[in-house]
Amino acid sequence: MRRTTKSFTPVLLHGKFKQTKVKTKIINGSPAPVYKGVETIDCLRTNNTTKQTMKYDYLIVGSGLYGAMFAYKAKQAGKKCLVIDKRKHLGGNVYCEEIEGINVHKYGAHIFHTNNKEVWDFVNSIVPFNRYTNCPVANYKGKLFNLPFNMNTFYQMWGVTTPEEAQQKIDEQKAEAVAALKGREPQNLEEQALTLVGKDVFEKLIKEYTEKQWGRKCKDLPAFIIKRLPVRMVFDNNYFNDKYQGIPIGGYNKLIDGLLEDIECKTDVDFFNSEYHEWRKYADKLVYTGAIDEYFDYTFGKLDWRTVTFKTRIEDTANYQGNAVVNYTSHNEPYTRVIEHKHFEMFGQDVYDNPKTVVSEEYSTEYTEGMEPYYPVNDERNNTIVEKYRELAKQEKNVIFGGRLGLYKYFDMAPIIELVMSKLKNEHDLL
Ligand code: UDP
Repeated sequence: MRRTTKSFTPVLLHGKFKQTKVKTKIINGSPAPVYKGVETIDCLRTNNTTKQTMKYDYLIVGSGLYGAMFAYKAKQAGKKCLVIDKRKHLGGNVYCEEIEGINVHKYGAHIFHTNNKEVWDFVNSIVPFNRYTNCPVANYKGKLFNLPFNMNTFYQMWGVTTPEEAQQKIDEQKAEAVAALKGREPQNLEEQALTLVGKDVFEKLIKEYTEKQWGRKCKDLPAFIIKRLPVRMVFDNNYFNDKYQGIPIGGYNKLIDGLLEDIECKTDVDFFNSEYHEWRKYADKLVYTGAIDEYFDYTFGKLDWRTVTFKTRIEDTANYQGNAVVNYTSHNEPYTRVIEHKHFEMFGQDVYDNPKTVVSEEYSTEYTEGMEPYYPVNDERNNTIVEKYRELAKQEKNVIFGGRLGLYKYFDMAPIIELVMSKLKNEHDLL
């Protein structure tokens, strides 16, 4: 595990997790405060010159959805957890910052969707979700198209009004690409897209957007990326096929706060540059949700990531683009999409209750040090490297690797909840 020479910085407790003194009791002959929900304090605040440290069952590194969910489940099983996060806030990438009374998805748009009723009921038991349905619009050189590819898109693209006409058009459009395959499976994103929806949709709605998003030619990307987009012969602009979707009422911080209620959390603490890197002093087990290559001090080299950056601004209008998500699918604009955050939580006329709005342009770039890693790059080089790290991870005693960074795998939110739920189905499963 990575060593450090930096000294430990004092920790801060976040918002609602600030300790509340409820009574005073005598420890080692002197009065010491007892804090609600923070049992460690009894041990840490002694008069001994050598500091006694509290042993937790779990030290959880990272307070994103995986870490928060793990802490929640462990607490339910009667385990004691300490959650640390190197950022100044909890919640990882689902964290929202309030600007002009609007919850701004600081690390990119997060839309919760799932087919799993148990997961849906669970998250709703923490905080009720609203009825937000993701219906992004694509802007190609000023012309708008509905997404995902459905009868509305085909009408806008070709003027076709029935599924039969649309199918005929798609068949014509994809004929050349299908013939070129000579019976074999599509081997890259370009072949996959062309044989799925044909030339026009590929050129106007896929090609340049994908090149912007991945910084690579469509021919050099795996076919599976595009397979997750539905193609529908009905007039249905719902981006997801899942039965349930929505946004927590009051924003994602409510979900994280609910999961971490009464659990000790420390923000602004970098695992590697704090006393906690010697975690065995503090806990029986470690749940590590940081980057797997960093944990092993990049022994096998650094893993690559794609990352997104945002330019966020306040607009002096109540309704800027009329939709939460507008994708810009041509190279004319350097950004991939523009998010208008209020539309995740305000609907219909309510949008006008707030005379201002907050919009974020999203830019996709190659990851360099100091940036936030977002999407794992699952090409051959990275897949080979990560396998070696996974082998090392298996040998780490009492360490659980979790989350997108720890597993080097792209996850939506619901599968993370599902993963932790199934991992910790009952107390005996706790490692
Ligand atoms: N995609 C596209 N045009 C769009 C939206 C998506 O070509 O307007 C392609 C693009 O290659 C992208 C993939 O579909 O990487 C998956 O899109 P998704 O919306 O799932 O990406 P995410 O929101 O996860 O970044």
